[in-house]
Amino acid sequence: MIEGFFTRKETESKSRPGGKVQSCVSCGLYKNCQSPKMEPFGNFKKRILNIGEAPGEYEDRNGKPWQGKMGRLLKETYEDLKIDLFEDCLNINAVNCRPVDKQGNNRAPTNTEIDCCRRRVLDIIEEYKPKVILILGNAALYSLIGHRWKKDLGGITKWRGFTIPDQDFKTWLCPTFHPSYIERAGNDKYNRGTTIETLIWQQDLEQAFGIKNIPFPNYVEPEIEIIEDLSVLKNIKTESAFDYETTGLKPHAEGHRIVCVSIADTENHAYVFLMPKTRKDREPFIKYLTNPDLKKIAQNLKFEHTWTKVRLGTDVQGWEWDTMLATHLFDNRPGITGLKFQAYVQFGIIDYSSEVDSYLSALDNTNANSLNRIFELLKKPNGKEILCKYCGLDSIFELRLANRQRMNILPF
Ligand code: URA
Repeated sequence: MIEGFFTRKETESKSRPGGKVQSCVSCGLYKNCQSPKMEPFGNFKKRILNIGEAPGEYEDRNGKPWQGKMGRLLKETYEDLKIDLFEDCLNINAVNCRPVDKQGNNRAPTNTEIDCCRRRVLDIIEEYKPKVILILGNAALYSLIGHRWKKDLGGITKWRGFTIPDQDFKTWLCPTFHPSYIERAGNDKYNRGTTIETLIWQQDLEQAFGIKNIPFPNYVEPEIEIIEDLSVLKNIKTESAFDYETTGLKPHAEGHRIVCVSIADTENHAYVFLMPKTRKDREPFIKYLTNPDLKKIAQNLKFEHTWTKVRLGTDVQGWEWDTMLATHLFDNRPGITGLKFQAYVQFGIIDYSSEVDSYLSALDNTNANSLNRIFELLKKPNGKEILCKYCGLDSIFELRLANRQRMNILPF
């Protein structure tokens, strides 16, 4: 096993793309506000950290977060849920100096300003060790997740409602709407509780306040067993999740192959192997695939089914669960069914694929039959181990996800 391969240290970038380190000096907002570098505020009795967007006029004047209309809305909504905003929580913003436009009005912070303030936000998390972090809106989302998420981040609508056991921060991250969105959606002091956005917001907040009492789940590093002789597959007696790494998306065009296979037989163990060249050496795997008593799970099973049929000449028997389909049935928001997204929001692992992503994406993404660079990866030092570890984690997360889905722990 390659130690430290997918750790935060290797995947996190605290500096800008270009390598320039972000700081208060490069941001400059501190020069033109009354309360520069606003300190965290609140007594933090229940160890809840709220991260908002940026101080506005009232916050800047008083030197504390949540002093204006949005603060009142947040405070009252928390009160309904028996949480005192300033007694039970600590409050900061993604950007801790007030951003203003040319007319001197409040404006949303830019991503660059958020990048500049991120070090400060991360230091506060490290110092206070909150039990739960409320990510209130897009700016806070970008601050905490944007620099670590290698794919399209999307907006808060995609992320809201998950309670993420973030393994880097070792705390629950709970993204939800910023109060200004609730306000714009028609909420105010008098009609609170009447819009769908408000109901969703209250539900997200309630879930976040409840989750802080659940012990934080620490990630267990699974055993990924690389095998040469497939006869050990006869040890698989129960259901399992299996996953392929292939030369492309579709199996039909010439030159395409199934390169690597993983089978997770428990949540903490997977067999992984490169597809043997001869039919005889593949035989134990074919037996596994065609045994209807061995129940099978996959992420988007039509992929594994089609590749098996076209390249190995057989149907898969014993299909039991498709994690991608189940995710979509539980929650039909766009952009959330991918395994990488689910591995993060359900299990807190933010990135186990960036090392291999470029090798596994099509060389020509306008052509569904395009080859990828998987064989180039295999030629690299440790290439086989890197591919096998990645493939093994895929099937492990599929099995973990299927089990969670079937326990009916809904992902929202
Ligand atoms: N809006 C925020 O995002 N933060 C504050 O502190 C006040 C309003």
